[in-house]
Amino acid sequence: MRIRFKQIKRWRKMLSREGIVGQKQDKLIRQFEVEEVQYQKRIKQHETAVERIANRLWPKCNCKARIKDVKHGYALVEERIVVIPLSVMDRAWGMDKLPGYRIWYIAHELAHIKSPPRHGKRKRDIHGIHFIEALKSLCPRRYLKYEKDYKK
Ligand SMILES: [Zn+2]
Repeated sequence: MRIRFKQIKRWRKMLSREGIVGQKQDKLIRQFEVEEVQYQKRIKQHETAVERIANRLWPKCNCKARIKDVKHGYALVEERIVVIPLSVMDRAWGMDKLPGYRIWYIAHELAHIKSPPRHGKRKRDIHGIHFIEALKSLCPRRYLKYEKDYKK
């Protein structure tokens, strides 16, 4: 894991704008680098965890996971990638206190891959009957209760 030169340049620019230069800037940059590496490590761990759950829900599904700092998850159907919000996986947000919430969330995104939307389908139809069927086949029954909240 390494930090792109571009990112460091961005930090330098930002700090310079704030009047933080020289040794003080170098020190902060080093701190940012440490934090960034830790962040990336955490993301990787979450991605591994999601892929493990995905394989349990859908053996040999051959799906990859991405963790992003987004409000809502989504699935890249062609690429077989589920994108899960960081907030769902990170303990700091407290979502882990809802039993099975993460499992349902991952099952929901997997269900999009299992029931790819047909061509020309409108957005509001993507949670239609085929989707629900796929979700039911993936998600443990006791966690399906989260589904209706999601649609609100
Ligand atoms: Zn959905």
